[in-house]
Amino acid sequence: MANIFTKIINKEIPAEIVFEDDLVIAINDISPKAPIHVLIIPKKEISTINDFEVEDESLIGHIVLTAKRIAKLKGVAEDGYRLIFNCNEWGGQSVYHVHCHLIAGAKLGWNPA
Ligand code: 5GP
Repeated sequence: MANIFTKIINKEIPAEIVFEDDLVIAINDISPKAPIHVLIIPKKEISTINDFEVEDESLIGHIVLTAKRIAKLKGVAEDGYRLIFNCNEWGGQSVYHVHCHLIAGAKLGWNPA
């Protein structure tokens, strides 16, 4: 069965689309953890970071460059923002279709790294 993000990519269920091209879709998170919370999702079905292959290198770069572009569009590039990839259970992943969280719009409190 298709995961929720594949259904969004296929327009089978709605989402607030912030950006889309051939490789990625970026949507507002349904349960935002900050004033700006966008998910950048590759259209290719990849479950977790562990499943990235060397052939995905340019796709990974495209995800990060898309996040950078959205941060600029949203006017938070200079103030700052955070990009997060959660991986597997201990990393807090809940949707097993790899994605990058762009979180911004407030001074972020938790700084684990
Ligand atoms: P994860 O926990 O896997 O790193 O992140 C999954 C994110 O997807 C969560 O922040 C969650 O709120 C978001 N999410 C889950 N289901 C939906 C949905 O149907 N639509 C949107 N826009 N976001 C979703």
